[in-house]
Amino acid sequence: MSSVAELLHRAAAAERALAQAAAPLVAAGRAPVELQLTTRPIALKATGLSSCDTALTRDPWAIDRDPGYGPGASTGDPVPGDAPRQGPLPERYTEASEAQLDEWITAAKAELGDRVSILGHFYQRDEIVKYADFVGDSFMLAQAAKQHPEAEAFVFCGVHFMAETADILSSPDQAVILPNLAAGCSMADMATIDQVEQCWDELMSVLGDGTDAAGTDAAGTDGEGKQPVIPVTYMNSSAAIKAFCGRNGGIVCTSSNAETVLEWAFARGQRVVFFPDQHLGRNTAKAMGISESEMPLWRPHLALGGNTAEELRDAKVILWNGFCSVHKRFTVDQIERARADYPGVRVIVHPECPAPVVEAADGAGSTEYIRKQVEAAAPGEVLAIGTEINLVNRLQQQRPDLTIFCLDPVVCPCSTMYRIHPAYLAWTLESLIAGEQPNRITVDGAVAEHSRVALERMLAAKP
Ligand code: SF4
Repeated sequence: MSSVAELLHRAAAAERALAQAAAPLVAAGRAPVELQLTTRPIALKATGLSSCDTALTRDPWAIDRDPGYGPGASTGDPVPGDAPRQGPLPERYTEASEAQLDEWITAAKAELGDRVSILGHFYQRDEIVKYADFVGDSFMLAQAAKQHPEAEAFVFCGVHFMAETADILSSPDQAVILPNLAAGCSMADMATIDQVEQCWDELMSVLGDGTDAAGTDAAGTDGEGKQPVIPVTYMNSSAAIKAFCGRNGGIVCTSSNAETVLEWAFARGQRVVFFPDQHLGRNTAKAMGISESEMPLWRPHLALGGNTAEELRDAKVILWNGFCSVHKRFTVDQIERARADYPGVRVIVHPECPAPVVEAADGAGSTEYIRKQVEAAAPGEVLAIGTEINLVNRLQQQRPDLTIFCLDPVVCPCSTMYRIHPAYLAWTLESLIAGEQPNRITVDGAVAEHSRVALERMLAAKP
């Protein structure tokens, strides 16, 4: 561990020890102000020490148009050339103080009333979540959009693919607005529709010609009528890829239902190709008893994804080479360190973490699973959590009688989600009042229709 990381780890440990000592006071509603240290801000402008990249202390409009995703966990991830770029934000907003922005957002929300609903993702920064009408994961928020026919517009404080899903599930006359177009998802962008189409053509050339050992016929189905490959995409993917799955007998999954969805797929296909998160695919398949040797990795820039035809024929799950820049930071070393520092600690991680981390943890599951584990924890328990820092901090705030900390000592938020700053929210809301719809995210007819098919298959899939 580097000396800065060591310093931060010790500081965090000291904060946690203070919090633990103060738990009875907090429970009695007498928390002294200095004990609020248990929740560390993501980026302190004064020191820059609390984030994994001090550039995160810059305002988002200063980095929105830089090439790349900018500072933080997704630094260095390749960005597709056609990724949306945010235009300049008027000076009225970039020059405003926090107090002014708060005043403008509060006033705009009051004026817009039920006409506009603000949706905030669990990983969103607190300065935004405090204005949200609904807080949840991407699918919960898309459903919230569907369940509120009275709203004319949803301001989606998440990332691009989430706003697309909300648009697909909401009615055509409801607008879904992403306050900052630079809020993408580096994982979703790791699988483009052109790459996926190319992968499919190559897979069909190897698996769809009746040459596999299981007796596949010329149409590509086997004796049981199963397709050679079923495409499955994680919710964290573009609408174009969801539509691809809908068109090709495939389905969408979330981190909560990935196993159910894979069972659905294996009832209809001999194999699965899983986009774009290799870790969720691998962790889920391993939990179902599938061995790593039956899970080749598809690298989109190589012929046959870098595999032989035989490896693909023997595969059960073909994993796309994508990952979440936030969750791939968690390591087995961090778990060992947490166990050494806090004997009895319970380690819970998200299944977007690499397989060795999931295996070394005491439990792994979706954001909702993590939330429920924290809710049900016994007072005084110590929990080390491997997921995005904003959520971890919020869980600690909600359960001050527990000691909760992020496994990664050098705190790293989802830097694309972090692009939604209150200045963008104020601009969006005031534009709506002026009758404009800035940054409206729309998914066109055929793509929306086929995406809906894949989403509906997911909703109908039962364990
Ligand atoms: S946490 Fe990871 S998967 Fe989620 S939006 Fe951020 S980069 Fe994408």
